[in-house]
Amino acid sequence: MEAIVEAVTGAEPELPVAIIEQVAAQVAPARMQLRRLAQALTTDPELLTSGRGEGPRHVELLIRGLLPHGTRRLVLPRCAGCGRTTSLEHRDGARRLCSHCKRKTTGGEPREPCAVCGKSLKVFCHDQDGFPRCQKHPPAEDGTDAILRILKQLDTGLDERTATAAIKKSLPHAHQRRKAASQLRHTCSPARVPKDPRQ
Ligand SMILES: [Zn+2]
Ligand SMILES: [Zn+2]
Repeated sequence: MEAIVEAVTGAEPELPVAIIEQVAAQVAPARMQLRRLAQALTTDPELLTSGRGEGPRHVELLIRGLLPHGTRRLVLPRCAGCGRTTSLEHRDGARRLCSHCKRKTTGGEPREPCAVCGKSLKVFCHDQDGFPRCQKHPPAEDGTDAILRILKQLDTGLDERTATAAIKKSLPHAHQRRKAASQLRHTCSPARVPKDPRQ
């Protein structure tokens, strides 16, 4: 807390210590958050006045909380993508981003390493083991067999034709069946770890 007060009074000497402490405790209620905020401000006190969109989120929250108390030099950090002083809840490396710019950098889709090529790309779909696949490596299997195998283990007593028909009727698309297969595998047999197709 002392380090935070010191950094803020360095920029805003007239701001009462009690106010700084109160706002800091409000925006960073957890010990860990306070410590990270203190560390960031000790290393780089200019985060408070430069408007640079960097450092932990709590720098922005602290400034936002202090502004109504008549600050003069504090500057809200700007999004490293669009420059707006909006809520910067995302990060891209050291840079802080607004949710709009975060979506833009990831193309709106999560990026994960493809189970076939291992490249961190936009997730096109998941295979029946629940692993992400890129657009170049869609899974060949249609998911029906995987569900049948799970049903068989569960001893449902259904014959294969009836089960297949039921599966295809309730899950008409292959991607739905693959998803169901990976979910069933996790819920029905938690002891089984999905096999990594790379191995
Ligand atoms: Zn932005
Ligand atoms: Zn791939």
